[in-house]
Amino acid sequence: MERSGLLVILSSPSGAGKSTLARRLMEWDPTLRFSVSATTRKARPGEVEGEHYYFRDREEFRAMVDAGNMLEHAEVFGNLYGTPREPVEEAMRAGRDTLFDVDWQGGQQIRASALGAHVISIFVLPPSLAELERRLVSRGQDAPEIIAGRMQKSRDEISHWAEYDYVIINENIDQSTEALKTILTAERLRRARQVGLGPFVRRLMEEEGR
Ligand code: GDP
Ligand code: ADP
Repeated sequence: MERSGLLVILSSPSGAGKSTLARRLMEWDPTLRFSVSATTRKARPGEVEGEHYYFRDREEFRAMVDAGNMLEHAEVFGNLYGTPREPVEEAMRAGRDTLFDVDWQGGQQIRASALGAHVISIFVLPPSLAELERRLVSRGQDAPEIIAGRMQKSRDEISHWAEYDYVIINENIDQSTEALKTILTAERLRRARQVGLGPFVRRLMEEEGR
């Protein structure tokens, strides 16, 4: 059945697990397209240009914004982050769903955009702030002062939880992954999203026999 593409927004305080969940969701459904953001943040070890992010300097980033090439953008933890517009619109045209790992500012801007009707948004909470800090430390990617900054900002991000359609408390990663799959499966079945449903049902009713 033909469907309009969904824009699936995942937000959380840094370290709550949204990258892990996004990766698992895409392993489950390889047709999902991850929206690769541009950022002025430096690449972490192992991060690949064009796969995790497009790493750009401030000037290049500004030029993309000024040219109207960003669906949304925001400053997060002192760096600029933004979503390139064209790949999202292309996926929509092809009826493919796109997964976004963006902060609350990105969530607000995408919801307010012309594509807002196609958004479903999910907020991921950690079971506690102590556990959030443990995860940031155990990820082993950021210096202690960066982790301290992210912890300080976590309450800001969490304060936007009520703007989201769904909330997952990410205690157990397997259960959270299942919850995410369930949300996506149900949203895809919504009547209004199934474009060819009217003609399909008409053909069904016109079938010969009892
Ligand atoms: P991590 O979340 O700790 O792995 O750190 P990152 O540097 O990868 O991301 C920092 C924050 O920026 C997270 O809250 C992301 O969701 C957010 N972010 C990433 N890409 C974008 C984007 O394109 N737009 C916006 N608004 N936020 C983004
Ligand atoms: P985010 O993208 O939200 O910053 P990550 O997905 O990078 O967070 O997760 C942060 C760290 O916590 C990673 O080391 C990840 O393996 C770990 N993690 C994620 N979810 C869980 C969970 N439910 N239980 C324990 N550790 C988790």
